[in-house]
Amino acid sequence: MPDGRRLPIVGGNWKMHTDRAEAHRLLDALVDDLDGLEGVEVVVCPPAPWLGDAADAFDDTSLAVGAQDVYWVAQGAFTGAVAASQLVGTVEYVLAGHSERRQVFGETDEHVNLKLRAVLGAGLRPILAVGERHEEREAGRTIEVLERQLRAAFEGIPQIDDGFVIAYEPVWAIGTGLAATPEMAQEACAAVRAVVADRFGADVATTCRVQYGGSVNPANVEGFARQPDIDGALVGGAALHPDAFAAICRAVAAAF
Ligand code: PEP
Repeated sequence: MPDGRRLPIVGGNWKMHTDRAEAHRLLDALVDDLDGLEGVEVVVCPPAPWLGDAADAFDDTSLAVGAQDVYWVAQGAFTGAVAASQLVGTVEYVLAGHSERRQVFGETDEHVNLKLRAVLGAGLRPILAVGERHEEREAGRTIEVLERQLRAAFEGIPQIDDGFVIAYEPVWAIGTGLAATPEMAQEACAAVRAVVADRFGADVATTCRVQYGGSVNPANVEGFARQPDIDGALVGGAALHPDAFAAICRAVAAAF
């Protein structure tokens, strides 16, 4: 932003939900509700088969499309995989490091790093998700886990710019209805920013957007949006309900 403030960003992660008709209804409703909304950037991450539909629906709007996943190799015999270069022209953002990818598909910190390099190499913008598991928080290891995930993710990446988004997503809060408190999320997002400052410098940390994700809904979003180190939200369940998602985006914009 010209005045030095970070424009908050709200992402909607549809995961493996929606059929094509539902996807179109959602996309159309979001365009109707959110196109031109100032004070927030809105990114929608539908399942891969609807990425082209989303790009068409959002053409000439203020809304952006994100992919939920990418493979890091440039091309080849990798059945089912999608390369970063193949997403160029359709998406602006790509999620990497989501805990469901880590837990269900066995992705490691090293895989996340390879994905980030591929995304950045293709000129796309990553949304890097990091977060601790319940037992790690209980053991007082939250900051240590975030630092490990971030440093591994940044390995070999010389610099990042303000297109690089980080989502703090405590694993125990995703899809559970048990959101972190705004204070917990603020503390973790400040710790994320401190690692970015240490790794890339204070100026980069000042412009880098750090979202909170984990059971965000229209009723609790304002508490997160008012925190100094939280720049928007990554939303799963509520992103499937256009009214709820639009309300979240408007609340984040209003707090900006
Ligand atoms: C997510 O999928 O990243 C997420 C935060 O999901 P939910 O909002 O449903 O907790």
